[in-house]
Amino acid sequence: MLGSGLKQPLTLPRLLPVRTASLARGYASSSDPYDVLVIGGGPGGYVAAIKAAQHGLKTACVEKRGSLGGTCLNVGCIPSKSLLNNSHIYHQTQHDLKNRGIDVGDVKLNLPNMLKAKEGSVSALTKGIEGLFKKNKVDYIKGTASFSGPNSVDVKLLDGGDQQVEAKNIIIATGSEVTPFPGVEIDEEQIISSTGALSLKEVPEKMVVIGGGVIGLELGSVWSRLGAKVTVIEFQGAIGGPGLDQEVSTQFKKLLEKQGLKFQLNTKVNSMEKKDGKVMIRAEGKDGKEQELDANVVLVSIGRRPVTQGLNLEAIGVELDKKGRVVVDDEFNTTCKGVKCIGDVTFGPMLAHKAEDEGIAVAEMIATGYGHVNYDVIPSVIYTHPEVAWVGKSEQQLKDEGIEYKIGKFPFLANSRAKTNVDTDGFVKFLAEKETDKILSVFIIGPNAGEMIAEAGLAMEYGASAEDVGRTCHAHPTLSEAFKEAAMAAYSKPIHF
Ligand SMILES: Cc1cc2nc3c(=O)[nH]c(=O)nc-3n(C[C@H](O)[C@H](O)[C@H](O)COP(=O)(O)OP(=O)(O)OC[C@H]3O[C@@H](n4cnc5c(N)ncnc54)[C@H](O)[C@@H]3O)c2cc1C
Repeated sequence: MLGSGLKQPLTLPRLLPVRTASLARGYASSSDPYDVLVIGGGPGGYVAAIKAAQHGLKTACVEKRGSLGGTCLNVGCIPSKSLLNNSHIYHQTQHDLKNRGIDVGDVKLNLPNMLKAKEGSVSALTKGIEGLFKKNKVDYIKGTASFSGPNSVDVKLLDGGDQQVEAKNIIIATGSEVTPFPGVEIDEEQIISSTGALSLKEVPEKMVVIGGGVIGLELGSVWSRLGAKVTVIEFQGAIGGPGLDQEVSTQFKKLLEKQGLKFQLNTKVNSMEKKDGKVMIRAEGKDGKEQELDANVVLVSIGRRPVTQGLNLEAIGVELDKKGRVVVDDEFNTTCKGVKCIGDVTFGPMLAHKAEDEGIAVAEMIATGYGHVNYDVIPSVIYTHPEVAWVGKSEQQLKDEGIEYKIGKFPFLANSRAKTNVDTDGFVKFLAEKETDKILSVFIIGPNAGEMIAEAGLAMEYGASAEDVGRTCHAHPTLSEAFKEAAMAAYSKPIHF
């Protein structure tokens, strides 16, 4: 599924009969099919279910985890951001408060309480979704779903027993799971996945992170701030993943190194083995020479893969691509009529907000025949300090596509608010089309980058030029003035640099 921009309705609106009050709650029987059944209660699935119900469709959502919110709320975005935020406060209290005229006494880490705070946030948010289901009259079925036909699934209920659920439309939103390292067993104590890295009971002395992508860098930062000596081994020559602009990635690496993280780029891990309470890792550089590293804990974060196992997709003719993702057309239809698919389990970036937007679009598509996600304007954020955020294509991607562009850059060092906050690392970088000044992409490395990138997304959705942003009044003193001045630098000159 591809492309961008507003989709035209290709099918007739499919408004389905509104249920009677007596049928509105309680589970469907075979004579009473749902209009929409969603498999998976993550950001894609729960949002699709709520939006479908808001359109008056009789909706249910099956989730096997025992709590709603999927990877994101349970073992992803939310717990990692709780640890990132609180480890940053701890690190700042230890290393930065004195410079700000705040003397504090004995600063100690209370890891059990930090983990408790994280669990509190997770539990409040997952229960909040249950509340939203009730409010919107979405039936929540706790169990594991498997297709028994294009319009029916068998659910193995968590409480025991089975239930057959019929629906006119079924949405697969089963998400993704950690990609295992071949031949290595994840014990979640010494050799851990991102899930184990959210609950370590003590700070390891030495941690090796395999994979310098977003998740590895975020969780590596957490444990480094809490006192671990962290080394990141990355197969590629740069950190942050393939979409990140090279210049930003280079600056990002320097800033993380200043914080104590070590990097081995262009390095491939060949094997690892538990020995004498440690993990021995054998890794090979570009020169082919093998070296051995030891660590108390190894975090394997080499990517995520789609979850389709056990869904019995073969039986209903749902095709998968080479990466195991569900194949869909530009209306989220799979190769089985009546079955749609969204989120991590299909194409595109594995991001919660991408899944959520698809959740809304697929529900609207079913209810009205219209639904739209602009895949060209999906922001990415790395929640380290400083944060890194971007939307649109890197310089390299624009070069590869032969698109002529101009650059506008502004450093936070020249921004009054960043200076006042003594938090000046990083810059904003605009890439605008050479001829028209239309914004092609924005990269931000700096404080609050993840919040500021929303302005870039909005500007790009409306096809704004750099000049449109540069001539928009931004409040003073704010970090967003750096955003405005980078836009000014793209079509003219900034004032303060
Ligand atoms: C450590 C970490 C940090 C992350 N941080 C961010 C971040 O900051 N921002 C961001 O945008 N993204 C982040 N992500 C990615 C984000 O979590 C995913 O992109 C998002 O959760 C995908 O949503 P989804 O609904 O497609 O799938 P998921 O959230 O994976 O939900 C799918 C759900 O389906 C259920 N399920 C699967 N099979 C069945 C079945 N047969 N029957 C019933 N239920 C089933 C699963 O139990 C699961 O709860 C992070 C991920 C990780 C691991």
